[in-house]
Amino acid sequence: MQALVTQPGHTHTTRIEDVPAVEAREGEVLVRTLEVGVCGTDREISEGLFGIAPQDEQLLVLGHEALGVVEQDGYGFTRGQLVTATVRRSCCHCLACAEESPDSCLTGDYSERGITRLHGYDRELVAEDPEQLVAIPKSLGRLGVLAEPTSICERALRHSRTIGGRQPWQLERALVIGAGAIGLLATYLLRLADVEVTTASLEPENELVEQSGAQYVSTHDNELSALGKFDLVIEAAGNAQLMAQTLGLLRRSGVACLLGIDPHHQTVELDGPVLGVDTILENHVLFGSVNAHRQDWLAAVDDLDRARERWPEALEQFVTLRLPLDRFQEAFEHRGGKATLVLSD
Ligand SMILES: [Zn+2]
Ligand SMILES: [Zn+2]
Repeated sequence: MQALVTQPGHTHTTRIEDVPAVEAREGEVLVRTLEVGVCGTDREISEGLFGIAPQDEQLLVLGHEALGVVEQDGYGFTRGQLVTATVRRSCCHCLACAEESPDSCLTGDYSERGITRLHGYDRELVAEDPEQLVAIPKSLGRLGVLAEPTSICERALRHSRTIGGRQPWQLERALVIGAGAIGLLATYLLRLADVEVTTASLEPENELVEQSGAQYVSTHDNELSALGKFDLVIEAAGNAQLMAQTLGLLRRSGVACLLGIDPHHQTVELDGPVLGVDTILENHVLFGSVNAHRQDWLAAVDDLDRARERWPEALEQFVTLRLPLDRFQEAFEHRGGKATLVLSD
């Protein structure tokens, strides 16, 4: 069967290749891949910056934002049922993974579908551990391909609320920096909870942000510091300088959550008293969040379906490019909305 593979650590090695057919063994559910979202992680792996092939193998099958359909009844799933699957799997030797929280793995020895030591979903069939499958309701349909990036946002918001909630706190005003898939989905989840949201990004305008009832601000002609202060700031632009600045944008007891990645070696600037005075006297917290717990996947599917009911037209506009597997290069280069690879209708 056909698969999108890459040789991790080597650029220009991403290609379609014939890989051995997959059969479900005892304890596995056979899933046919329908559609897989593409994101910055796929691009970075493809550029040789990231990713690890499974043990004793050269190639890694890409694809971690999966929507699939169950091929055979079993383990609580029925043929024809839509599913997605968690990305990160247990390292098998740490406290967090023992408590079914590989999103908080303490060793870094975890595996991740399509990223780290485990083949992904960019192939026709995958044999999956039923415990890692997450059912997608029929009503959500193809929008289920957004479950993975939504789960990242759900974890970020759950942790933000836990951190904020360690003391009396109200989440009234939130700022989301960045309007890629993660920034947009975070905006929609916050709007679902009726939080007053401002979303800031480089583009002059963003209709999808405004359709959610959030305010859109272009950072091209506005300083973030002119927007006032917030109970929660989410950085989803992947800019370390902006990440540092989030601390200065917090109200008393405010929480700043970092979701973007910025690997550039650079010195970032922060006005001394913002860190040395305000962070202490105003009980601020800055934290990072990665991946998602199973409960975040369940919340993601639930909230996506609620968002679809509330903003049916807007949700349909999240995926702006759907391409067959062999046109992966165009999907990788796509900007302005999410691109997906369609393996089956
Ligand atoms: Zn992704
Ligand atoms: Zn672990």
